[in-house]
Amino acid sequence: MSVIIADAAVRGARRILDNTESAYSEALAIWGSSHTVGFPNTAYYLPIAYLLLGLPIEKLSDMREVISHCKSLIPKEEDTLPQPTLDQALDAGLASVLAQELIEALRYLNTPGFYTQTENSSDEQLWLGAADDIAIRKRGVELVDGSTPGFAVVIGSSPDPETATSIASELQRNNLLTFICGKNHETSFAEQLLQKKMSLGWTSRLVPFGPESSAVVFALGFAARVAMSFGKIKPGDQQVAVDYIRNRVLAFAIALGEANDELYANAAGALYFGIPIVSDSAIPEIPPACEPGPRLVTANVPHDRIVSKAIDIRGIKTSLHTVPIPIAYGPAYEGERVRGDNIYLECGGGRTQMVELCASKPMEEIDDGKIEVIGPDISDIVAGDKLPMAIMVEVAGRNMQEDYEPILERQFHHLINYGQGIMHIGQRDIAWLRVSKQAVEKGFKLRHLGDILYAKLRQDFERIVDKLQVKIYTNHEDVQRMLTKARAVYAIRDPRIEGMTDNDTDVFYSCTLCQSFAPSHVCVITPERAGLCGSYNWMDCKASYEINPNGPNQPIVKGATLDSVLGQWQGVNQFLHNASRGKLSAFNSYSIISTPATACGCMECIACIMPMCNGIMTVNREYTGMTPSGMKFTTLASTIGGGLSTPGFIGHSKYNLSQRRFLSAEGGIKRLVWMPQMLKEEISERFNSRASEIGIPDLLDRIADESVGITEEEILPFLSLKEHPALTMDSLM
Ligand code: SF4
Ligand code: ZN
Repeated sequence: MSVIIADAAVRGARRILDNTESAYSEALAIWGSSHTVGFPNTAYYLPIAYLLLGLPIEKLSDMREVISHCKSLIPKEEDTLPQPTLDQALDAGLASVLAQELIEALRYLNTPGFYTQTENSSDEQLWLGAADDIAIRKRGVELVDGSTPGFAVVIGSSPDPETATSIASELQRNNLLTFICGKNHETSFAEQLLQKKMSLGWTSRLVPFGPESSAVVFALGFAARVAMSFGKIKPGDQQVAVDYIRNRVLAFAIALGEANDELYANAAGALYFGIPIVSDSAIPEIPPACEPGPRLVTANVPHDRIVSKAIDIRGIKTSLHTVPIPIAYGPAYEGERVRGDNIYLECGGGRTQMVELCASKPMEEIDDGKIEVIGPDISDIVAGDKLPMAIMVEVAGRNMQEDYEPILERQFHHLINYGQGIMHIGQRDIAWLRVSKQAVEKGFKLRHLGDILYAKLRQDFERIVDKLQVKIYTNHEDVQRMLTKARAVYAIRDPRIEGMTDNDTDVFYSCTLCQSFAPSHVCVITPERAGLCGSYNWMDCKASYEINPNGPNQPIVKGATLDSVLGQWQGVNQFLHNASRGKLSAFNSYSIISTPATACGCMECIACIMPMCNGIMTVNREYTGMTPSGMKFTTLASTIGGGLSTPGFIGHSKYNLSQRRFLSAEGGIKRLVWMPQMLKEEISERFNSRASEIGIPDLLDRIADESVGITEEEILPFLSLKEHPALTMDSLM
């Protein structure tokens, strides 16, 4: 390693550790040694210390051990003469990382509002702080399955906001996750992007972690949690952990601007995890640790080449999306918002009528690739105008079935939303579209909506779609005509799917997508029981099998019914045995008490029994407060995850709550005694119609929520007052 860097890294590490020690003593004096510390909404404590040292840091006093460990890592001055070795510098880097993780945890303690606890930045609050477990599930899975090829850590700031935007856009186009940390000359890269009105947060994949350079620990902590949750690396297994991160989590750092000792210390920390550094400045270079290998530090890279250089050095393979439209396209643009005077055209969303429909047709009626815009286009309106819109996609295919129409139709939302500067919300007759001025400046026309749908649906559903054409209507009469037509289709479609029952269906579907991190987990998806992540219902699985016969969704011939109340079938048991490699021999699909279904970790909600109320509560992932089970969602999740069947607990989707077989062995929704208000609001429409079906139309109002209480004792009087049905049902236990 370059002498200059090694020297500076060790110096920087000493300074960081000094600061950590004094911050620690101050915190001890203010809060006392038994005060709790940690990052919000995570089951992984301070993830770097937990992964590398096996230490679950929960109290201030627990930090002492990390500090002593850091001290032992930083070489004494006399041992570094004439200059520190590479290993000494890397150890000092590791010490800096561990120490700064404490600094950030102390920041959460001392300045609780410093970071948002939201997925995205808001106008008031830029810095997000540590990733919570939801972000890990969503984005970590993409890293592991390769749909996100890696992540970039951007440190410092670029000479001007224009350069920052072009670097960020290039990272987005390559589908990389970008973690933004620290400042250079009082300016941060994130603030530069904000000036240029770029959306920041997990949805746009431009994640502003924190304004101090210590925020790099959030990036390394993200990698640490991916190692633990998806790589199943045991905390404390330091060498295995570091090898996993070096080899499986493809990351690089882009350092912008001047370097100081602290930056070199952090750089050494990154290098410890195998993260190469590419800089725009004249810092000393470091050749590969071994040949062939990536250059560790590459300096003086021009801004327009810095992203491609880093991608090359790290050996990341990226696939650019190819859709023939004048705007950038990809999942990174999914979360963008188009607002206020940035809107050029708006359709739907209650301002005008918008409707979307996918219909199958005979082969000869489709002119493959034909895209028609019928009515005014972008060039016929002025900025700020509104138009009605109907998007009609007609498909034909030898393997196409009417049942797949809603599945294709549900793709419109994210496919259109992937366009840069295009916002799409909702579906069917409540769809809502906004086209930004920037998109229009780049030449976006309405036919490009058709180009997107044509290219992506043909590509992603090639096994069921042979021919496809798109019609986009923007005049009042045609939109009204399409609306009537679409509503007639929905009216036939909905009862057909909603009306299916487990009893008169012979084939169920499996989903084993989550086995990569919960090896024995299997979702058994029946018409009346959707997958627990909310992404797959029976129809989705059927289509997915049709599209990819060797994929994660396989048909299960249910075979003889072993227990119709608990939901157990011979064919399902046989499948579970094979798919879990002998770990499971059976579970009951309709019960929470008697050998319930397994849970993987990505359930939308967790239900558990409330013995005192003779009922069941459920909580959704987004609700971060306490529940009457005495546990928050995250604690519950760590109790039941990992592919186990845990009597008394199940993971389920929001949709499943209103399906007829939801915990039917215990009496179904009549047992529900508590759920968060936000969940009630979200599911109310379907839930109320299901409640009417069982003759208790006001059931939702009789279910307690956090405004009533968060303990069984607090909610019981409410349940009695409301004459909640659970109180007079058979005893649960
Ligand atoms: Fe599939 Fe179940 Fe995982 Fe959802 S939770 S992806 S349905 S295995
Ligand atoms: Zn899962």
